[in-house]
Amino acid sequence: MDYQNLIDGAWVSCGTAVPNVNPSDTTDVLGHAAQAGIEEMTQAISAADAAAQGWAASTPQQRFDVLDFIGTEILSNAQALGKLLSREEGKTLPEGIGEVTRAGHIFKFFAGEALRQTGDLLASVRPGVGIDVTRDPMGVVGLITPWNFPIAIPAWKVAPALAYGNAVVLKPAELVPGCAHALAQIIAKSDLPKGVFNLVLGLGSELGPTLINDPRVTAISFTGSVPTGRGIAAACGAQLKKVQLEMGGKNPLVVLDDADLETAVEVALNGSFFSTGQRCTASSRLIVTQGIHDRFVARLTERMRALKVDHALGDGVQMGPVVDARQLAQNLEYVQIAKDQGAQVIGGARVTRETEGFYMEPALITDTTNDMRINREEVFGPVATVIKVADFDTAVRVANDTEFGLSAGICTQSLKHATLFKAQAQAGMVMVNLPTAGVDYHVPFGGTKGSSFGSREQGRYAAEFYTKVKTAYTGV
Ligand code: ADP
Repeated sequence: MDYQNLIDGAWVSCGTAVPNVNPSDTTDVLGHAAQAGIEEMTQAISAADAAAQGWAASTPQQRFDVLDFIGTEILSNAQALGKLLSREEGKTLPEGIGEVTRAGHIFKFFAGEALRQTGDLLASVRPGVGIDVTRDPMGVVGLITPWNFPIAIPAWKVAPALAYGNAVVLKPAELVPGCAHALAQIIAKSDLPKGVFNLVLGLGSELGPTLINDPRVTAISFTGSVPTGRGIAAACGAQLKKVQLEMGGKNPLVVLDDADLETAVEVALNGSFFSTGQRCTASSRLIVTQGIHDRFVARLTERMRALKVDHALGDGVQMGPVVDARQLAQNLEYVQIAKDQGAQVIGGARVTRETEGFYMEPALITDTTNDMRINREEVFGPVATVIKVADFDTAVRVANDTEFGLSAGICTQSLKHATLFKAQAQAGMVMVNLPTAGVDYHVPFGGTKGSSFGSREQGRYAAEFYTKVKTAYTGV
């Protein structure tokens, strides 16, 4: 399979074809991806720019039909797309199919939103004047996506972009060209006019600056690492260009003495290790009060050790491999750093399986304090720490003592503590007796502090980023 760029409605291959390797089995090469250069990126921007006005003038019905079609296609191919996703990224097959389903639902949701766009009609403070407030599309938007949700994140940027009348240039992550290409194939089959959606595959460090610095691109939505995000924000700031960033997390899960033990363990297991911990909303710091600490650690250890780690497509597998060699090395290095700083490590070893892949055991790191590096920096792997604390107030203080603020969770049966935590947690998303990861597709997603920048993604809140407000006065 060759993955090509989609530029102005045409499939374009160029550059050295880069192999797309299955992290569960490195002998399995899914295909080869074209590597666009600055020239192709510029062509894609020109195509989007030429198509933007036409799409901005499209009717809500046209937008609904296109998005609804894309959603239907995704949902009816969920099994095959889910398998592709699991082969490409390494999350388990049920997780892969689940993510594809979510992508389909996102397109369906924004199909509906295309019909529901509203404005305000107001009386002026002056006599004989009427005011209407409407939302216009931004024009050409640049979307830069990461590897950990290869179809859901492109979907939650592309769908609102199109629903609100924008033209798109999508630059997906290098590690997952297959899902982006499959999504582009579906979009290409729809009635979307050519040039409205463009896919450019290649190196972010090379293509990114062209996309970000082109004056025809009016807004950049980025999900990825903190350093890249900060660089993009600086570049956009210098140009006064609209920007939206979703970056890292160091998400706390607080477990109080009165928590239901089995619920808390299930919530921690899911939040910390599912999807191989490669979710920006993963629970990486388990902040546990002293009365339940030993029982919680013992039970979580037992459950964690029983997790089946193997080929993402294998039967009953609960945790697939790490995405690539570089990420695996980084995870193992963080486990070592924690050990060197005096923490106790359970699991966390490199393991081999029948197929050659990037496998490691999930790691639970106990006896940690919040100032250790393992509790300050995002690992992005199946690695969770335990921080023992005296009481609820200390737990909240420790939970908030981080540069990040994406998601925060608490397990408790106390309505008072759940309510206080929802109010006091410095995070964009708060979970009570639920994993920090795993969110709905129809409500806002995003964080505070160093995790996010700009307006929220998803749900109706997406309109904030993908439109600009116009206030029109009419004298009669
Ligand atoms: P990760 O380390 O998880 O791969 P990155 O932030 O490097 O995270 O990548 C997220 C996305 O950003 C990818 O699509 C990548 O190609 C892109 N990217 C990387 N460097 C740049 C850059 N300098 N400008 C724009 N996009 C970039």
